[in-house]
Amino acid sequence: MIRFACNCAMGEHRAPLEGYEISSGAIQKLPEILKDYHRVYMVADRNTYRAAGEQVEQILKENGMFHQSLVLDDEVVLPNAQTLGKIILYANDLGAKSDIFQYSPLPDLILAVGSGTINDSCRLASYRMGLPYAVVGTAPSMDGYASAGTPFLHDGTKSTIQGTTPKYIIGDLDILKEAPYDMMLAGIGDMFGKYTGMLDWELARDYSGEYFCEKIKADVIEATNKCLENGYKLRDRDPECVKNVMEGFLVTGLGMAFTGNSRPASGSEHIVAHAWELADVEAGKPPHLHGLEVCEATRLIAIMYKMLLQETEDAHLKELIEKYIPYFDAVEEFCVKMQVPPTVTDREELVKGIKRALIMRDRYTILFYLRDQGKFEEYAERAADRLAMLLSTRRNDHD
Ligand SMILES: [Zn+2]
Ligand SMILES: [Zn+2]
Repeated sequence: MIRFACNCAMGEHRAPLEGYEISSGAIQKLPEILKDYHRVYMVADRNTYRAAGEQVEQILKENGMFHQSLVLDDEVVLPNAQTLGKIILYANDLGAKSDIFQYSPLPDLILAVGSGTINDSCRLASYRMGLPYAVVGTAPSMDGYASAGTPFLHDGTKSTIQGTTPKYIIGDLDILKEAPYDMMLAGIGDMFGKYTGMLDWELARDYSGEYFCEKIKADVIEATNKCLENGYKLRDRDPECVKNVMEGFLVTGLGMAFTGNSRPASGSEHIVAHAWELADVEAGKPPHLHGLEVCEATRLIAIMYKMLLQETEDAHLKELIEKYIPYFDAVEEFCVKMQVPPTVTDREELVKGIKRALIMRDRYTILFYLRDQGKFEEYAERAADRLAMLLSTRRNDHD
C-alpha cells in the first residue's frame, strides 16, 4: 500500500500497489519481488512468451515458485469470454489427481506477461477468482497497467468492466525496448493524451465544481513532459525514454487509484478514442492500438481548445487554455516529425466519433462545455475539417 497526506479535499491518497520495478534486468528480481508467493501461475501469449515469458518461467522454476503456465495461441485483440474462461480453467493442471483433504491446488498468484489483452484478461481473472495478480510488461504501449477497469468484448460490442489492480508491476527495459515500434509510438501517444485530460479536469473543476487535486495533476504533467522531451529518442529504442513512458503509465495509474477516478489518466481524448474504437469493433474490424487512437484524438481536442481560445470572451477560460498551448504545439510537432500513424482519416468518421463521444459518457469535458454554450455541433464539424486537412497534407508530404 502506498499512501501520503495531501492538501486537496481528500486529505490523504492511497493505492493498493505493493511494489514496482522498472529497470534493466528487472525480471531477475522476480524471486525477491514475489517472495511471498510459492505457486505462481504465469499467463502469456505466443509473442509475449517469446519476448519474456520463457525467461520468466525459467526463473520461477529455478526458484521453486512455478505452479503452471498458459500460453494463449489465439489472436486475441480484446479480452473476451473465451480468453477469460481459459485462464480460469488452466489455473490448475487439468490432469492432476485431486485430493480434497489437501490444501487448495490453485495458484497463489497470477502473473500476467504482456501488456494489453493479457494484462486486461488476468486483471479480470484475478478479480473473479479472488487471487492477487502481478504483471511483467512486454511493451510500453498503453496506460492501463495499473487501472482496475477492463475492456471486454461481448455481444459484438465492447464495454468496461471491473477487475483488480496489480500488486506488482515489473518492467524490464531490456525487454520493453525491443517491443514493436508502433506499440512504442502508441505508448507515448497515450501519454500525450494526459495534456488534454488535465486541461479537461481543470475545466471540470472551474465550470462544474468537480473534485481536483493539484499535486496529482502536477505529477502527471511532469511525467508527460519527460516523455515529450526524450520522446524523439524512441527512434533509437533508448532505454531511458522507454523508462519515462513506463513511469508515466505508473504515475497516471497510481493517480487513478489515489483519487478513485480516471481523471488523472483520461479526458475527452479518451472518450473520442473509445468512440472510434467502438465503431471498428461494431463493424467487425480489429481496433487500432489504443494509444494511437488516443494520440489522434488528443490532436483533435487540442484543435478544439485552440479554436475556443481564439473565439471565447471568457478571460478565465483563456488563461486556463493558454497554459496548455505550448504542450499542444509540441505534441503536434512530435506527431509530424515522428510520423505517428493516424487511425481515422475519413472526415465523416472523425465527426461521428466526436458526436458519439458526447453521449457516451457523462463526464464534464470540453465537449460538455461546448454543448452548454450551444457550439458543440459547429465545433465538431470544424475541428474534424481541420484535422482531416492536416492529416491529408501530412500524408502528401511523405508521398
Ligand atoms: Zn490530493
Ligand atoms: Zn489510455
